[in-house]
Amino acid sequence: MTSVLIAGFKHETNTFSALPTDLEAYKARALYYNDEVPKQLRGTKTEPAAFLDFCNAQNWQVTHPVYADASPSGKVTALAFNHISGLIVDAAKSQPPDAVLLSLHGAMVMEDAEDGEGELLARLREQIGPDVPIAITLDLHANVTDRMAALADIVVAYRTYPHIDQYEIATQAAELIRRTLAGEIKPSTTVVRGQMLNGVDSGRTTAPGPMTEVLASADNLLSQPGVLSTSVCAGFAKADTHDTGPSAIVVSDGPAPRFTEMADGLIEEVWQSRHRKTVQTVSIEDAVGWAKNAPPADGPVVLADFADNPGGGGYGDATRLLKAMIDADLQDTAFATIYDPVVAQMCWDDGLGALMHLNLGGKIDPAYGAPIEVRGKVTALTQGRFSLKGPMMGGQRIDMGPTAVLTVGGIEIVVTSGRFQAYDRMYFEHARIDPEKKKVLAVKSSQHFRAAFGPIASEIIVVDGGGGLTSGDYRQLSYENLRRPVYPLDLD
Ligand SMILES: [Zn+2]
Repeated sequence: MTSVLIAGFKHETNTFSALPTDLEAYKARALYYNDEVPKQLRGTKTEPAAFLDFCNAQNWQVTHPVYADASPSGKVTALAFNHISGLIVDAAKSQPPDAVLLSLHGAMVMEDAEDGEGELLARLREQIGPDVPIAITLDLHANVTDRMAALADIVVAYRTYPHIDQYEIATQAAELIRRTLAGEIKPSTTVVRGQMLNGVDSGRTTAPGPMTEVLASADNLLSQPGVLSTSVCAGFAKADTHDTGPSAIVVSDGPAPRFTEMADGLIEEVWQSRHRKTVQTVSIEDAVGWAKNAPPADGPVVLADFADNPGGGGYGDATRLLKAMIDADLQDTAFATIYDPVVAQMCWDDGLGALMHLNLGGKIDPAYGAPIEVRGKVTALTQGRFSLKGPMMGGQRIDMGPTAVLTVGGIEIVVTSGRFQAYDRMYFEHARIDPEKKKVLAVKSSQHFRAAFGPIASEIIVVDGGGGLTSGDYRQLSYENLRRPVYPLDLD
């Protein structure tokens, strides 16, 4: 009977963050062992769910020692990395697999090595040898290294941003494993990178633009003999590693120079489109002024706090945008989320209806917006537990810990004990805030929020006040390990 090892080990590491990514950080998001993996993930729109369904349909025997995902933050500690990768390698040792399916991110940096996924694959290869096929799925924001491509036979990345195709992409990877095991193909992966730190409009696919165009070119290559899969990654620029930046991936039936030429052609297209963007960010002042004076409309004006997106490693407690909203006295407004476990607990201690006078947010690094002195009322208390509605990762469970809604003037602020990007309506609705009925919504998110809030928004304004860990201003950061020269730091 065919035996398949399924595992997930994800992280998007913002190496400029001072928050280490330890086992606690994994527990705060998702750290599932053995039987918990199917229990938590079956029926969700995630890669492990797709792997499990596919293997089940093939009547394959599966082992699933671990699924681990942490919110983007600083480097992964050696302890966390050794623990999680150790579980995967140990599972391969006790039940030697015929094939391996891994759900990874592709931008993991360890505290003692740059290429987390490459290191995981190297340890796994040491156990299973060179002949057992490995397929990995990556986030569209992966920084893909030659080592990953050499150690995995099949590398397939998401093609949507917001990422709503995780299940489908994982199914494609599993299908390529099936064909490999059947002896139909001998897959090999080629990756090339350009002289760019960022590109393809950060990978946005919600409007026609650089990413949708290069993906169309990648799709066209699929009709060429021997081409099994093509991917384009936008990269994750907030990781200071040698190989950070956009990449093109071709999975082919055996290696050949022509497949490298195809990847080169895709990356050349990425280079040519580097100046084109589908979204223009605006200043905090302009955004809040517009929200204040927006004419009555069907659906809320949505403000996206681009510079402090926990989904890209932002601390989630930066206060610049929120302070400007409070100062402007916006009414009929909701904000999700501010990470401040101390304030969430204070609200819980004082109880529903309590009047609070406290310092909110800005505690991890006041450089990104100092704590703001607010007077408000506790208008909701929740355990912060719910299942996402989707379209992104629908069904996945979230546990933010003790959560409170602190209402300051006309703004309902969701204060959490965990760092989460608000890309789903449940971040509001679980606290009985109806996002559709608000005049203004603010979310700490740069692009993913569009999947859930785009359809209800009367207008979307992406706000980059600078200074945050996910601001688009790369020149404020000092890169030491990145290959040079690159666009936009050295090349135009
Ligand atoms: Zn991503």
